[in-house]
Amino acid sequence: MNCPMEGREGTEILLAYCAGKLDRARSSTLEEHIKLCPACREFVVGQQAVWTALDAWEPAPVSPDFDRRLYARIEKEVSLWDLLLRPFRPLLVRQGLPVAAAAAVVIMAGFLIDRPAGLYPAEAGPTEANVESMAPEQAEQTVQDMEMLRELNRLVHPENPDSKI
Ligand SMILES: [Zn+2]
Repeated sequence: MNCPMEGREGTEILLAYCAGKLDRARSSTLEEHIKLCPACREFVVGQQAVWTALDAWEPAPVSPDFDRRLYARIEKEVSLWDLLLRPFRPLLVRQGLPVAAAAAVVIMAGFLIDRPAGLYPAEAGPTEANVESMAPEQAEQTVQDMEMLRELNRLVHPENPDSKI
């Protein structure tokens, strides 16, 4: 027989075969072909794997305290900005900086790490255009640098490693 993968009916006959909808004659003809054709074999094996997985899948029962644990976890999770700003928090609290300004500090820190000191006067800060032109790799680098700073902060203040202040 011609390979159904190449024919006009496409994969329909293979799907019908997997679903057990083909008559005996066509089914055995196709089986003979599948033995010889890697493409069809792969398709059938893939289909059967999906069907087996769906048959085996049972939704896990919801535990009685699901809601409580979910909310506890949400409480525990911290936002990316929270992680980024954590090293600067003592500074922010002391100077009463708003979060937006703190974010600018973080971004500026990334710029200063990447560029020679003095290129950006500290009091000027990055402009909107600078922030927008920040490459993804640079942003990633900044996040990594912030992670490092956070580690450093933890080393400097070991008495309160998980402090959120
Ligand atoms: Zn085939």
